[in-house]
Amino acid sequence: MEITTSFDGGIARPVEIADDTVTFDLRPKHKVLNVWITDAPAVLRVQVLVSDEGAEHNLRGGLIVSNDGCSFRAVEVTKTAEETWTAEVAVPEGRVQVANRYPYGRDRLDGLICRTAGAADGRWRFLRGGGRTVPLFDWGRPGRDLRIHYFIAGEDAWETAGVWVADAMVRALCRDTDLTRELRRRCLIRIVPMVSPFSATQPGGSYTTPDGRSIYGAATWGDESPPPEYDMLRRLVTDTIRGDRLGFMLTMHSWQTLRDTTSMETIRTAGDRALSTSRQRWAEHVLEAMIDGVPHGESHLAETIWHEGLARDYLLRRHNAATFRVEVTTLGQGVDGFQATGLRFLQNLLRIDDWRPACGNAAGVE
Ligand SMILES: [Zn+2]
Repeated sequence: MEITTSFDGGIARPVEIADDTVTFDLRPKHKVLNVWITDAPAVLRVQVLVSDEGAEHNLRGGLIVSNDGCSFRAVEVTKTAEETWTAEVAVPEGRVQVANRYPYGRDRLDGLICRTAGAADGRWRFLRGGGRTVPLFDWGRPGRDLRIHYFIAGEDAWETAGVWVADAMVRALCRDTDLTRELRRRCLIRIVPMVSPFSATQPGGSYTTPDGRSIYGAATWGDESPPPEYDMLRRLVTDTIRGDRLGFMLTMHSWQTLRDTTSMETIRTAGDRALSTSRQRWAEHVLEAMIDGVPHGESHLAETIWHEGLARDYLLRRHNAATFRVEVTTLGQGVDGFQATGLRFLQNLLRIDDWRPACGNAAGVE
């Protein structure tokens, strides 16, 4: 047997190969497993050493395997010893991809860009700065006074469920349907499939700075000078807010199997700022409408942020803008579920008539 670290976010070592069993050590906390195993036996035993916390976060839904690198399935894992989980994987043609997150990295992003470049009303823009690039799918007919919705995924590069949702939304917007015709009439949509494609190549962190440090990038929105990707996105979003054009802004994350729901949320207060009663009612309406029909969906309005410096906190505190987050579950659903989630978000955008309260400083917003 041979183990090949996959191109994106794969760790292969430390690994042990013994007879028909391969063992990966993902301790002490979370690590990303994404490898190809070749020359494997027809029934391969995959053993994963992981802490209880890591197992709850990643393995409750099973190990993710693929024989062709395109379609994925979850294979049940059982606890066989302390900090040890084991799966039996059928390997029909001697090779199998094994992962603990539905793999999505730069290779898939490249494929998405190739397949959707030049679509009607959709164009890829590449924000460049600080040695980094952010690919942004900019959709709609510009030059008109329409609301702009933002869907931002891959702030934490390994939270791939959110990235699959973004991927599905880009593809859906490239089709000519009743949905896209109606959306085109009413709004512009900007989708960032991965904040930092570069980070997807790092095995142990959610975001890697240009000088190689692994940090919690999503919490840098409020920094004086955030890392390049966040800096560029922040400028774009705050320009949109200043122009009173912001509609729905959603950052798309995934706690993997830690929760059995896909949970959408925003906050009522940030610093000295609080949503007025009417804006709070509006935010509750947006949550309810946007999560409707989403597989395993639920929503709630939190009193305050759970970690300072996240987009919702910064944008409300500094710019009086109400923005949203979703955590897409990987428990009981795979790529099909992520795709259904993305499509539903696009459909649900049409259920909200008034986006003005997103920007609290806009004329007429109370
Ligand atoms: Zn996250």
